[in-house]
Amino acid sequence: MDIFPDKKIIVVSNREPYSLSRRHQKTVGGLVSALDPLMKATRGVWIASGSRDELKDRPSRFPVPPADPSYTLRLVPLGPADIEGYYNGYSNRFLWPLCHMTLDRVYLTRSYWRSYRKVNGLFAQAAAEEAGEGSVIWLHDYHLALCAPFIKELCQNAFVSIFWHIPWPPHAVFRICPQKKELLEGLLANDLIGFQLPAFMENFARCVERELGHEVDIEGGVISHKGRLTRLKAFPISVDFDWFERAAVSAEARKFISKFLKKRGLEGSKIILSVNRLDYTKGMIKCLEAVELFFTKYPRYKNSVTFVQIAVPTRKVEPYLSYMERVQRKVDSINQRLSRDGWKPVEYITANVAHAELAGLYRKADLAMISSVYDGMNLVAKEFIASQVDLSGSLLISELAGASEEIPGVTLINPYDTEGCAIAIKAALDASPAEKRKALQEARAHVRERNINRWIMDIFKEIKNIQDEQIPSQFFKRAPVVLKG
Ligand code: UDP
Repeated sequence: MDIFPDKKIIVVSNREPYSLSRRHQKTVGGLVSALDPLMKATRGVWIASGSRDELKDRPSRFPVPPADPSYTLRLVPLGPADIEGYYNGYSNRFLWPLCHMTLDRVYLTRSYWRSYRKVNGLFAQAAAEEAGEGSVIWLHDYHLALCAPFIKELCQNAFVSIFWHIPWPPHAVFRICPQKKELLEGLLANDLIGFQLPAFMENFARCVERELGHEVDIEGGVISHKGRLTRLKAFPISVDFDWFERAAVSAEARKFISKFLKKRGLEGSKIILSVNRLDYTKGMIKCLEAVELFFTKYPRYKNSVTFVQIAVPTRKVEPYLSYMERVQRKVDSINQRLSRDGWKPVEYITANVAHAELAGLYRKADLAMISSVYDGMNLVAKEFIASQVDLSGSLLISELAGASEEIPGVTLINPYDTEGCAIAIKAALDASPAEKRKALQEARAHVRERNINRWIMDIFKEIKNIQDEQIPSQFFKRAPVVLKG
């Protein structure tokens, strides 16, 4: 990787790339798969949260990957109260529902905020200690909105960028946040803020305009704050297209899929597939309602079509536990009402399925449904597209998922329109092979080109551009200063 060969790259994320508790096994997730090769090539440092108990008698810095070390993992020791306040609390009970505009689920206490500030300070301290002259510190996601100002205090020369992986809500929603000014100012201390979509970037800029009174240049993606500039840009995240394409045809995927179908008696069935983390933003109840209506409205599909829902519980606290129960009840009620002659409409799987196996399922599926009620991007959609090597499936994407705005050729659904979704399911299953091929060809060309490596390259190219045009900060004495282009 020849971007930034001479600069130290420090990635900071809540989640670690290699798990200490599971004997340094690589953790599962798109971000880890994407950034691990970058870190290996640049021999940087990855900072993530760790358990204070587990780190009691061992160093918090160690070389990874364990088999062939090439970069450093540094864990920030956190106790149970930190995890509860910063992670379960402010990040997941407050910022996540706020940014996904599910305001009835927003829950906040002052102690969450105190904990969030404290933990952001700890991450920043670790990043500043690792940083050298000209280092690039790359923060990830909504857990770390307050890191940049702490880092800049400790280490003025570091280039700090954050990628905001989830949506940024419009001001009408964001204004309910009691810490809105602190959050905006915290983020503006970054040199570059990356968003999934231009719409999220514009929402952020409007919030800054309304709450801080700054003039913003949305087209140019620049905001001047406290005498320095922050750049904003949309970089839609993607997947490793070639990897999924290869995995879909691998022997491992073939073996998995034949065992999977045999075990469930689905060998002759058409499959509608949905793959999610078990999260209320994924619209799983709405999807089940649409599937139920599809089977009721078009009974001739009974026996020959099965809805396979893979739902992995990742946050085992409220309100996720209650949501999980609701989804389970809905699955049970559909299966009780519609099952007949050994046919079951819904196969519900709550175990984590590895990417190598998912690729096989994506390839086999006749239809994939993305029913998110709000979603920053949705990588499952892109993984499905990359795995559809035979061009034989269809994809329905919620128009409220970021992927729907980016990928050409896909059919959109509105998860709030149950009947519309049921009709779309029928149309997608009945589409001619030529129609399916055409739609997938277009979508695959897009995702193949705009893959995860392109995402990283685009971000680092932008960082380089910004560094190359470095303008001394004293130049911007009087805010607002707006740069064009
Ligand atoms: N995933 C997985 N195994 C599963 C279910 C999901 O590895 O059993 C992965 C999926 O392949 C995707 C990620 O979880 O890479 C979900 O990403 P997405 O952008 O769709 O949603 P998020 O969970 O980030 O909100």
